[in-house]
Amino acid sequence: MSDYKFFAQVNEAFDEAAKYSRFDKGLLGQIKICNNVYHITFPLERDDGTIEVIHGWRVEHSHHKLPTKGGIRFSMTVNEDETMALAALMTYKCAVVDVPFGGAKGGIKIDRSKYSSEEIERITRRYTYELIKKDFLGPGSDVPAPDYGTGATEMGWVLDTYRQLKSDINAEACVTGKPISMGGVRGRTEATGRGVFFGIREACKNKEDMEDLGMETGLEGKTFVIQGLGNVGYHAAKYMTEGGAKLVGVAEIEGSIYDPEGIDLEKLVEFRNSTGSIVGFEDTQELESNTSVLEAECDILIPAALENQLNEQNAVNIKAKIIGEAANGPTTADAHRILKDKGALIIPDNYLNAGGVTVSYFEWLKNLSHVRFGRMEKRFEEGSYRKILNVIEATSDRTFSEEEMKELARGADEYDLVDSGLEETMINAYGQLNELRKKHDIDLRTAAFLNAIDKVGVMYEQMGIFP
Ligand code: GLU
Repeated sequence: MSDYKFFAQVNEAFDEAAKYSRFDKGLLGQIKICNNVYHITFPLERDDGTIEVIHGWRVEHSHHKLPTKGGIRFSMTVNEDETMALAALMTYKCAVVDVPFGGAKGGIKIDRSKYSSEEIERITRRYTYELIKKDFLGPGSDVPAPDYGTGATEMGWVLDTYRQLKSDINAEACVTGKPISMGGVRGRTEATGRGVFFGIREACKNKEDMEDLGMETGLEGKTFVIQGLGNVGYHAAKYMTEGGAKLVGVAEIEGSIYDPEGIDLEKLVEFRNSTGSIVGFEDTQELESNTSVLEAECDILIPAALENQLNEQNAVNIKAKIIGEAANGPTTADAHRILKDKGALIIPDNYLNAGGVTVSYFEWLKNLSHVRFGRMEKRFEEGSYRKILNVIEATSDRTFSEEEMKELARGADEYDLVDSGLEETMINAYGQLNELRKKHDIDLRTAAFLNAIDKVGVMYEQMGIFP
């Protein structure tokens, strides 16, 4: 759909929720607008010596809190409208989970599979340099993170580039989602998928909702389809399965597969790694197109790839009664209306995928405080860390040096801290949305936007206007 306008779609949902807020048009307009939009172009010298122009963006949506925060995406879908929409969603997402950041987003319009790792490094470093030059990067101004098509490696390059150019004692806090050795936090990689699981689990505990859908409470035995086996999709599927749900369908770029008897996620990932495709895996049925499985029989549908996947073309055929939006903006406004009319429960992106930025916040705090997370030092004193080390040793097939074991024990400790913080955040935020939803008789998406508008609006009000 070439006329698809993502930012307008986000604002449509915002306007719907704004009807229930106490703020006037002027202030609402102030919240909605993107504060800074930066379009960057720079040349890349390819490995074969040819020159190519690269287009990138960074959008800071709202400065009501600093730094602004949001991932960097490498995808052919990247453009100004998409980056603006995603930056706005970051503002609302952070507010919903009470993470004190303004929203931002970055993107580079490339198909990363067409570039060597050296080229990707040059693109990342030059993009970072351009951001620094215009003050779009820094621990207190704007802090990127991974998104679609990027991961810890790219974030490591962002930090290293920043460090080369700035002498800043807080340099490590200029980007999150870094490798652990560069100041990353344990649990960040799996955080978005883990948060998706916590959010769906909360929604499935709601007796009234489950009764309305004609379902039992709890995840046990519920079937689900996932779109996207990237970092978010893979981890969401992993924790959903561990939580008792059954994976019955998978959609990826190369095709979609279905098996009502259940699909073994780990074996599927292994199969895809060796063959390059999910198609042909075990007894699964290959469906017509790479999105056909979105319309397959299942209880829960989890789009975990890109925006605009559930739209007016396929929404009528979608059979899932619960939609868990792991991706940003996967459901168009039209599709949302169609699915809602069909009685589906939609768990919105700006709540459900907030686990990533929540754990990014923990990482940022860790970097700024220049300490290690966890309580190991105390445990060393008490000597009880021995117990943890014994468990590690007993469950491993090799022996570890004392130093290695201490490191492992510290890691387990940090992971626990991060994971429990994430779980609590997702439970609390769901509680807030549920209350708001009941109070105004609105859906969860409208409740999430209203929740964000209320919180951000108060800040704008108190802040006043400069000069
Ligand atoms: N890219 C992720 C998102 O869309 C994470 C952003 C962050 O951690 O700053 O929420």
